[in-house]
Amino acid sequence: MTVTRFAPSPTGYIHVGNLRTALMNYLIARKTGGSFILRLDDTDRERSKQEYIDGLKADLEWLGLTWDRLEQQSLRLDRYAEVADGLRESGALYEVFETPTELDLKRKKLLNMGRPPVYDRAGLALSAAEKDRLRAERDGYWRFRLDQDRTEWADGILGEVSIDTASVSDPVLIRADGQVLYTFASSVDDVDMGITHVVRGADHVTNTATQIQIMRAMGGTPPAFAHHSLLTGPQGEGLSKRLGTLSIRDLRARGVAKEALLSLMARLGSSQPVELMMSLDEIAEGFDLAQFGAAPTKFDAEDLWPLTRARNHALPFETVRDRVLALGVPAETAERFWRVASQNITTLDDLGPWWALCRDGAEPVVAAEDAAFVAEAMALLPAPPFGETTWADWTAAVKAATGRKGKALFMPLRLAVTGQAQGPDMAELMPLLRRVRAKA
Ligand code: GLU
Repeated sequence: MTVTRFAPSPTGYIHVGNLRTALMNYLIARKTGGSFILRLDDTDRERSKQEYIDGLKADLEWLGLTWDRLEQQSLRLDRYAEVADGLRESGALYEVFETPTELDLKRKKLLNMGRPPVYDRAGLALSAAEKDRLRAERDGYWRFRLDQDRTEWADGILGEVSIDTASVSDPVLIRADGQVLYTFASSVDDVDMGITHVVRGADHVTNTATQIQIMRAMGGTPPAFAHHSLLTGPQGEGLSKRLGTLSIRDLRARGVAKEALLSLMARLGSSQPVELMMSLDEIAEGFDLAQFGAAPTKFDAEDLWPLTRARNHALPFETVRDRVLALGVPAETAERFWRVASQNITTLDDLGPWWALCRDGAEPVVAAEDAAFVAEAMALLPAPPFGETTWADWTAAVKAATGRKGKALFMPLRLAVTGQAQGPDMAELMPLLRRVRAKA
């Protein structure tokens, strides 16, 4: 069975970049009737916060990306300790003592000699007596001994990848204070949880080489990996600094529809066109990881608005009934109000001003040359409530009285009644209007 996971670190709110990862893993599981795990990578006790855990769960639930199982790394520390013991025994994990300053010096020396700044494995050469002496001064920490060879895998997006781990420093897996680092915990989890597919950002490619080796060293089978390109801004600029304003919760608060986010993220960076899809089923059906390319993917938050608009235009009344009623729209006109207003909004918050217009009338817009015409027309408009034929009857009467027709007839009336040059079909709108300020 396919098992995928989304593994955020709860050190912040999730953003569009995370969503892309979450969605791809969710869709792979969903398409194959597999299982999707939400795994909290929370071994960093200082930076992980309950607030972020609650936040990311709420965001995923809102999006409909529900998980079949929840896992939390901070609850698995005993297991990591057990695997670490095994790796120490086999010599895959070795103790080191260099301070950051010492490491920095080593790095600079290597760079000066024109060599790659790869850790020199001095820790491997320490005798038991030397280690004891060092331990008396400071706590040791643990590095994983990489095979100095190439690590290769068939990447679901990048194709054949080959990483020369001789040019990678042996990674620190366990810190001096005992904290297990992500690279290690993630490898243990992926093996233990039977993860079959991992999709994540291209920033993890080097990690993958390391993790494949860790998994093999612990006797496990690595999953299939795929690395999606990272998102950039519309001009190709890095997004990392701006991701804070691109959190799912902020976009949601600004009225972005979840269907817009999901539809965009399911297709952006792929060879398939971005189009509005109204359900995760529909999205899953057309989803194909092989359609995604390795090039950086431009993301423009503005693209979310046309999709949000299209989604709101397509929403059936039943799904927004409560929201419409909450505005104070009377039950008997609520459906008509939605029919009329929904075609003229971007976010659902835009319904408020449309209802205010129906209830209180709009500030009229009257061009100087139309002032007399509008005054004459207003005298011909009966008092509210208006009916189904009010607009037709009224405009016919105004036409007869003034001789105007077409745009010259309709546009000044629309502007006078709604204050806007564009908007709903006037015949449909009139029965909703309780007041026309231009008449006062
Ligand atoms: N916690 C890691 C991250 O958010 C997970 C990466 C992975 O999928 O392995 O980057």
